[in-house]
Order: sequence, then structure tokens, then C-alpha cells
Amino acid sequence: MRVVNALTIDFEDWYQGLEIHHTQWAGYEDRIVPVGRRLLEILHESGVRATFFILGYVAERHPEMVREISEAGHEIGTHGYSHSLIYRQTPELFRTEMNRAVRVLEEITGRKVLGHRAPFFSITKESLWALEVLGELGIRYDSSIFPVLNYRYGIGDAPRWPYALDAGDKTLMEFPISTWQLMGRNVPIAGGAYFRIYPYAFTRRAFRAINNEGHPVAFYLHPWEIDPDHPRIPLPRRISLTHYFNLQATENRFRRLLGDFTFAPMGEVLGVS
Ligand SMILES: [Zn+2]
Repeated sequence: MRVVNALTIDFEDWYQGLEIHHTQWAGYEDRIVPVGRRLLEILHESGVRATFFILGYVAERHPEMVREISEAGHEIGTHGYSHSLIYRQTPELFRTEMNRAVRVLEEITGRKVLGHRAPFFSITKESLWALEVLGELGIRYDSSIFPVLNYRYGIGDAPRWPYALDAGDKTLMEFPISTWQLMGRNVPIAGGAYFRIYPYAFTRRAFRAINNEGHPVAFYLHPWEIDPDHPRIPLPRRISLTHYFNLQATENRFRRLLGDFTFAPMGEVLGVS
């Protein structure tokens, strides 16, 4: 039997994941609707449904986009409101923003939001309190903990496959971002810049190895990764190197991946509904 992997889209515009404060976002070219529709077309042509973790800021400005995604049969999850690092927020600010982000999605779709992906995977040992807040707001699963260590994210010794977590008086399912273990190290392979940097054959090998062990992969993509013509702006080198890398190859690569493996929305893979 083929293992069903979780396909997730971190649904944000190209300038929103660049550590630019959200009060400055109004100055950048908004490309999320045409790019979002293009992504919906690719998924439709491939016959694949995904989970869209949608930023609250985007949902407030483009409710019709959220409706189109939902009506196409995809799952709607939350990516928070302002794309801020959770470990730099207070629990109070996180709760206020998350409440706003979840409510706007639920008002548009009329359906409960069950899943959460943190901006920059920023649930780390410093921000585990966030899980309790998510549980209070009715979130049933999270997919934010990256079992690697990086300058911005990761819990190096966290489990690599889905597991249940205590979050106050609730239990959340956690679906970690997938890694492939090579020579004792967890190598990130499952999306974003890693998907664009490694040759496709490497990603495919990793998927096969993980699926052969019976585990599902949690894969993620951003809409702007299939939009190679989005504006170039000056950025710190550590960010610009990965942000703009190999964008022109991503769409074809993504289509191949969708053809080579089986995917479903994350909530369905976890059996959370
Ligand atoms: Zn993001």
C-alpha cells in the first residue's frame, strides 16, 4: 500500500516571510491572488488536495481567495496573523493574533480551523506555551516543530513522526516537518528552500526511503516559490540566498513530486476532522 503524505501550503505573499514587520507590508506589490490561483490550477491538474495554512492578514484582504481554496476541496488551516516569530511574542499577543487569524478563516468558510503551522516554524523550546493557547482556541493539530537546529528554528531532539502532545488540558497532534536521517543527522528535505536547493532525485530518494519505512512525509511549499518573477529587493544575505534560489525550476519539480507520490491534506493524514 502506498503511504499517503501530507501536502501543505504556507499561504502568504512573497514579502511576508522575509522578517519585514507587518506594519510595513502595505508598500509591497501584492501577488497572492494570481499566484494562488495558479497554484490551485496545478493542484487541480494533478488531482491533489492540500492543507493551506493561511495567514490571517491575507485572509482579511482576500476573503474570495480563501473561499476559492476551500471550495476547491482543500483544507484550511492557520499560519497565524502577522508572520511573527512566536518565541519573540508574549503569550497574550500570540493569543490575540491567533484568535483573530482563526476567526476570520472560520467566518469565511463556515468551517472549524483544525490545523496550525507557525511562521518560520517558530515553536521551539522557548515557545512551547503556544501549544496550550492553540488547544484553547480549538486547534487540534500543529505542524511547526522542526527536529533540526537552525539559526531561526528547531528542536533538535524532537520526534520525527506524528505524535500526541499535552497542551494544557487538551491533547494536540504534532506532525513534525519531515527530515531524512543520514549518518545520524536529521536532514531537512521536505519543502521550501530545501526542495529547491537539493536535486529533485535527492528529494525523491528521501521520500521513497521514508515511505518505505511506513512513515508519511510532511511537505510544504509557498505560493511565491512558483512565481520566479516576483520583485527582487535587498535583503540580508542569509535570507536572499535561499529566498530566490532556483525559483524558475520549482513549478516543474513540484508537478513531478505530485505525480511520483500520493498526497492528501494533513488533517486527513492524521485522521483529525
Ligand atoms: Zn510562512
